[in-house]
Amino acid sequence: MEDWAIKIDCQRLDDAVGDVYVHADYKRARIRLDIEEFDTDEKMVQTLRHELLHVFLWTFDAWGVYAKAKLGERWGQEDDAMHTFFSERQVGALEALLDGMGLPDLGLDMPELLEYN
Ligand SMILES: [Zn+2]
Repeated sequence: MEDWAIKIDCQRLDDAVGDVYVHADYKRARIRLDIEEFDTDEKMVQTLRHELLHVFLWTFDAWGVYAKAKLGERWGQEDDAMHTFFSERQVGALEALLDGMGLPDLGLDMPELLEYN
């Protein structure tokens, strides 16, 4: 993901606390967060992580763009809904995986590790 440009905007949203637009062709993404809606920093970080996972899973989004273009008028609202449904399940599965793993402790032991090199 190092070669992606990910822009994060904080603004009021009508029907979500966060969302993301992925433009895989250009390796760009725009995440919007409605920071007024978060009671805690933790909830904001969770939402940011959720939207970043959508970017990480850009291939599924790209598949949707391809299928929509391929099917043209035959792609309908139900297809949009199903694409969103499965996209959210993918992200949810990764969130569960990450929550189960916890965060790796990389900080304090790094100088000691470097001595072995
Ligand atoms: Zn989502």
